[in-house]
Amino acid sequence: MTALPFRIGLGYDVHRLARGESLILGGVPIPSDVGTVAHSDGDVLLHAICDALLGALALGDIGEHFPDTDEQYRGASSIELLRSCLAMLDEHGWRPGNLDATLMLERPKILPHKDAMRRSIAEAMDLPLDCISLKATTGEGIGFVGRGSGVEAQAVVLLLPKG
Ligand code: MG
Repeated sequence: MTALPFRIGLGYDVHRLARGESLILGGVPIPSDVGTVAHSDGDVLLHAICDALLGALALGDIGEHFPDTDEQYRGASSIELLRSCLAMLDEHGWRPGNLDATLMLERPKILPHKDAMRRSIAEAMDLPLDCISLKATTGEGIGFVGRGSGVEAQAVVLLLPKG
């Protein structure tokens, strides 16, 4: 792999929201009357983070590594998918440095759950809390986020060489 002092990766994901589905964000179950429609556990935030990690090393995307046509990944825990991505990084000699992510969701309100999500992600990525930034915004009532039809997440990660 090209010798660079660091690598940067960008991730994006979207899931449809529907009644009767569960909502798990950043590995944290969120009380909600709507949840994500997905083959896995539908953790849109962790999926964006996985794509950012894979993207930083040009290793493709989450759909290539964990296809939603594969029964093995039905209801898959996205924390486990994240751990698999981190293991790939490790094999290539890299580790995450810091993460900045944004959730776009009309409801429920994210603020009461933000700290739990940050702790969950920090633990999974083995990073201190001040290296995990999570922001949230609504869709201001417009577009699919604003109508409450879906949830989006974006993530940027910086990778550093191991050791
Ligand atoms: Mg996804």
